[in-house]
Amino acid sequence: MWAERDAAVVWHGFTDMSAYLDHCPVVVERAEGHELIDTEGRRYLDAVSSLWVNTLGHRVPELDEALRDQLDRVAHSTLLGNGNRVVVELAEALAGVVPVVAPRFLFASDGASAVEMALKLAFQFWALQGVRGRTSYLAFGRAYHGDTVGALSLGADDGFGAALFDPLRFPVMRAPGYDEPACFEVACRMVDANAGRLAGVVVEPMVQGAAGMRVAGPDGFVALAEACRAADVLLIHDEVATGFGRTGTLFATEQCPRVRPDLLCLGKGITGGYLPLAVTVANGRIHDAFADAGQAFAHGHSYGGNALAAAVALRHLRLLDERDALANVVARSAQLAGLLTEHVSPHPGVGEVRITGLLCGVDVAPGTGRAVCDAAVAAGVLLRPIGDTVIIVPPLTITAAEIERIVDVLARAIRAELG
Ligand SMILES: *Cc1c(COP(=O)(O)O)cnc(C)c1O
Repeated sequence: MWAERDAAVVWHGFTDMSAYLDHCPVVVERAEGHELIDTEGRRYLDAVSSLWVNTLGHRVPELDEALRDQLDRVAHSTLLGNGNRVVVELAEALAGVVPVVAPRFLFASDGASAVEMALKLAFQFWALQGVRGRTSYLAFGRAYHGDTVGALSLGADDGFGAALFDPLRFPVMRAPGYDEPACFEVACRMVDANAGRLAGVVVEPMVQGAAGMRVAGPDGFVALAEACRAADVLLIHDEVATGFGRTGTLFATEQCPRVRPDLLCLGKGITGGYLPLAVTVANGRIHDAFADAGQAFAHGHSYGGNALAAAVALRHLRLLDERDALANVVARSAQLAGLLTEHVSPHPGVGEVRITGLLCGVDVAPGTGRAVCDAAVAAGVLLRPIGDTVIIVPPLTITAAEIERIVDVLARAIRAELG
């Protein structure tokens, strides 16, 4: 009944509404810990962390309390030209942990907006210094940086309907995706050859998430950072998906020795999955160039730096430590990899399994990704495919027993759908 009411009025993104009801959508009413509970009272393990935003489960007492406390102070006030105490406290706390030199924080509400701000900051950074011609960007094959038109321009040509919007997208220089072993060599050469034309290079450190969890080792990112420094091209790390512990370190950049991006985009897990908040972190050099020129950054969102979201994000950052969440990510990642190798990989319909921390993709036979995930959902484990890659992104606090349940349900779903 709720599914029909939903379909009658709500238009869901990245969802063919003509087939919406055929896939038995879960209409969530409430949640407990790692489980979502639908309007019929059925429970589902949230094995995609509500699209990679949830970190410590749902209804975390400490986060609920931080939100209630902030409600008694103020819900929102604008950051354009004025400040807000809890946002200052959040920025101070983040300044101690982000892999950016002398960081400054520009707040928005969605990852795509954080990417847009990074693009525009890089652009204006060169323009205000009177540098001409540095107006292009280099991005990677299979990249995904969000769905607004600027972020979509950076995204791979084939991904997420981007090609459909080609007439709207600005051209970018394109290195190969991480599945090409030479992609970083090629990218470094492109940076070198186009130094005078590039405003910045945009890259997802360690894992291309929406590409189906395509992974790359740290060496390529180290080389890319060196090439950018040599050519004086700004390096932009998009950690919207990888940030806040998902790869086993607080930020994936930490796994790339000595790499310090000029701009860093954060979102998704920043509030533990509670409220929309994103931030673009700029290094001191970029900030000072604007200050020296006496120029404002020509950008600002109405709800950027929302106080409720900031209060939750601040408490969440401390809670990641208090709960020792990163250690759990490392342990559960090893367990998940082992169980997949044992129970899922041997099936002839299963291809590559890729995993970094708790970002995991399992390739299944062409045309079966959706059916496999539907079967898992029917068995009480919420999974969502990207094409024919089953994506497993459990909360950072997932337990060993829950990991076993995910693999057990996935293995059964694969047997049921692929024989
Ligand atoms: C999800 C994602 C974005 C976009 O974030 P939204 O909050 O959905 O706009 C950008 N970059 C990466 C790497 C992402 O995974």
